[in-house]
Parts: sequence; structure tokens; C-alpha cells
Amino acid sequence: MKIDKARRLTKLPPYLFAKLNKMKSRLREERKDLIDLGVGDPDLPTPSPIIKRLSQAAENPRNHRYPSYQGLLSFRRAVSQWYQRRFGVRLDPEKEVLTLIGSKEGIAHISLALINPGDIALVPDPAYPVYGAGVIFAGGKSHLLPLREENHFLPCLEKIDKKVAQRAKILFINYPNNPTGAVTTKDFFQSIVDFAKEFNIVVCHDLAYSEISFDGYSPPSIMEIKRAKEVAIEFHSLSKTFNMTGWRIGFAVGNRAIIETLNEVKTNIDSGVFQAVQEAGIEALRMNEYAVKKTQEIYQRRRNILTEGLARINWQIQLPKATFYLWLKIPSRFSSLEFAELLMERCGVIVTPGIGFGSCGEGYIRIALTVSEESLEEAVKRIRADNLIRREFLNAKIKCKC
Ligand SMILES: *Cc1c(COP(=O)(O)O)cnc(C)c1O
Repeated sequence: MKIDKARRLTKLPPYLFAKLNKMKSRLREERKDLIDLGVGDPDLPTPSPIIKRLSQAAENPRNHRYPSYQGLLSFRRAVSQWYQRRFGVRLDPEKEVLTLIGSKEGIAHISLALINPGDIALVPDPAYPVYGAGVIFAGGKSHLLPLREENHFLPCLEKIDKKVAQRAKILFINYPNNPTGAVTTKDFFQSIVDFAKEFNIVVCHDLAYSEISFDGYSPPSIMEIKRAKEVAIEFHSLSKTFNMTGWRIGFAVGNRAIIETLNEVKTNIDSGVFQAVQEAGIEALRMNEYAVKKTQEIYQRRRNILTEGLARINWQIQLPKATFYLWLKIPSRFSSLEFAELLMERCGVIVTPGIGFGSCGEGYIRIALTVSEESLEEAVKRIRADNLIRREFLNAKIKCKC
């Protein structure tokens, strides 16, 4: 029997990395020394107090049953205390916090809760692909908001057509930003809240990278803005902060009616997060800042190794203040896919072409700092030693030694 897949699946954007992945598999067989800077998955281990707490909690038969849908109240209390401590924001753990199976799960499902077929969602370009995928599954349409370097990778709210804004139901934003590494200010969040109130739009802010920041910078939460709770929810994750990507735990906070609609969707789809994992999550949220500082220092050193190394072939890179990504401009005669192939073939270095995050990602590649300093040094060495790539960056005129 021929399996006809549902139209919603055919509406997903084309998978651009098929060729890249094929090349990756082939190269994996040919050479053992590929350096993978493509995936945004921390290489650092989960801190041991969290693991210990999981293993204790796993022994407890009380945790072997279905968890509650909203999540353990004790976990939601830990989230609320963490928000108070970290952002000075008060949250009602019973009504304004929801446990998620990782924030990706909540982000994918929020559109099912709020979007009717034909509705518009405002989605940044480039962006984490899940925002747009959720909108498609709900039968909605994404109206893309270009994030451009000259506007510090912030969407230009004034440029959104009034008619589009009036029809929009959701606005997705994400700062610190994946893939661009951009950060923002409370003033920008204020303008987002004002805009959302004017046009009756639900703001979904993805704050996955709030704790991966450098040089003393501390990213704000949109919940710090007065009256943000009237229009916004914020998605959060333990994945990046505590190196827990495999554990599948995150949470959403904010407007109680929005939280309730998301919970309604989830109640009909999943049955929550293993309670032992939620207990481990409590342990994580209660850890002192020391562990997070250590993680920040590691990424900061890696960031510096790469940017300083590549600056020596004139590859100019903006130092990101947050996230473990570098968003690098590439020579204009290559597409991002071509340049990623070049780096893979010639240097054995895997990166993500910007086009994978949307058409405004063209002209860039994304590098994830999720490998050791030694591997980054080796990657820099290989890139600098490659004549073709060197030549692209070093001005030919300067090269002439007269
Ligand atoms: C990693 C990531 C997430 C998802 O993290 P979870 O593991 O699902 O909690 C969400 N948003 C962005 C931008 C990410 O990079």
C-alpha cells in the first residue's frame, strides 16, 4: 500500500541538509577527524548533584506512576523561586507555571492552542525551526519578520503591515537568539509588549539561553516588563543551562489563560514528565550560581579561541554576548550551503548553513561552541591553513608583498 502522508507534513519547509548529511556520512567513513560544530547540544556533562537526585528519585515507587499534567507543584514552586531570584519576577506556581517535556514540546504545541486554520503567526527569519513548524501543524500561516544585522537582529515592528498585525494571533521572539547570538534590552521587550497589547497578539518568548551569557552580561526576561503577563508567556529550558538536553524537561511561565490553553492541548496529547526527572529539575534550579558560572567561562573561552583565531585570516566576527553560537558572515560569492560544503570537504569541519534557519539566514553560517578547546583550536588551524578559504578573506592586494 502506498502511504499518503498528510498535507500538513508536505507543507513543512524543504529539508535542505539532505546533501550535507550525505556528505557528512561519507566523510565520516573516510576520515576519523571530523570536527562537528553543527549541533547545538552541549558536550558538558550534567552536574552530579542533579544526577544523584534523579537516581534517588527513581528508586521511589511513588514516582513510577503517571505524573500530574501540570507537573509537580514542588517543581513549579522551584521555577517560581528561581524566577524571583534571577529576574525579580513573581509567578504563581499553581497558575502561571507549566512543566514541559523540554521547551521544544511546548513551543510546538502552543500554536495548536491558539491558532485557527488561516490565522497568522509572526515568526522571525532566521529562527529556531520549531516556531514555524508548530504554526503549520495548526493550519496557520507564518508572516516572517526579517532579522537583519543592521537592526541588531531584532524584528522591525514598525515595518509590520497594520492589516497583518491586526490578523496576527501569535508573535514568536527569542533573545538571546539562536542562531544569530543577538541579545536585547528591556526597552525592546517593552515595545513588544506595547505592540502586542495594541494588536491583541500573544507573545511567546523563547528564553532557552538566558544563562549562557558572557562578559558579565545578564539577559532579561520579558516578564520583567510591567503588564507583560497580560499578553505573554515565556518558554524556558533546563537543557542548555544545566547541560540536560537529553533529560527532556522545560517549562512555560506567564499569562495564566495562555498557560491554561497550552495545558489543555497537552492534557490530550502527553502525560507529563517522569517525576524523578522533575525532582532532578528542582535540584538543578536550586543549585547555586557557581555551576552556571563555570559553564559560562568554558563557552566564553571557546568563543574567544575561535574568534581570535579566525580574525587572523581577516574573518571578522562579532563577539556574541550570549548563546553558544557564532553567526558568521561568509564571502558573498558562496551560498551558505556551498560554504558549509567547502568547510566540510576541505577542512573536515561541520557547520550549519544559515539558510537552514530561513531565507534571511543566507550569507551566514552558524558555529556551535559545543566541542573542546583543543578541537576548536584544530578547527581554526585547518581553516587558516586552507589556501582557498584564506584567500577569500585575506585581501589579495594586501597579500602582495612589495
Ligand atoms: C535548544 C533550544 C530549545 C529547546 O530546548 P529543549 O531541550 O526542548 O528544552 C528551544 N529554543 C531554542 C532557541 C533552542 O536553541
